[in-house]
Amino acid sequence: MTNQTEFTKPQAAQAAAVQLTSLFGAIGAEIEANKRAHGWKVTGPDDWADQHEVPAVLMLITTEVAEAMEAFRNNDRANFAEELADVLIRTIGLSHSMEIDLAGAIYSKMEHNHARAYKHGGKRI
Ligand SMILES: [Mg+2]
Repeated sequence: MTNQTEFTKPQAAQAAAVQLTSLFGAIGAEIEANKRAHGWKVTGPDDWADQHEVPAVLMLITTEVAEAMEAFRNNDRANFAEELADVLIRTIGLSHSMEIDLAGAIYSKMEHNHARAYKHGGKRI
């Protein structure tokens, strides 16, 4: 079975992408302001050259995923939602402070995924 559906960007999807960019910008600014207010380091574009800063933030995102897994194991849907929110807060915060267009990357990746064959590369899941 292959996924031959064509990814199209109807006007509604283009409008949604613009709204997502705006939303991520607003949330990202809030996250950054909160980090500064609490004395946390804000990872910036120049930190790309640092061998430890970005990997440390990626591990914090990974920790939030692990916390979501633990919430799932505990059958705690409320905490599961909170940990998924943490994943996005850290991800949106990182992309915002590093000046990465996360909304644009999401839509580009969705377009790429639509063009992929079903279970491409012989993957099982
Ligand atoms: Mg958490």
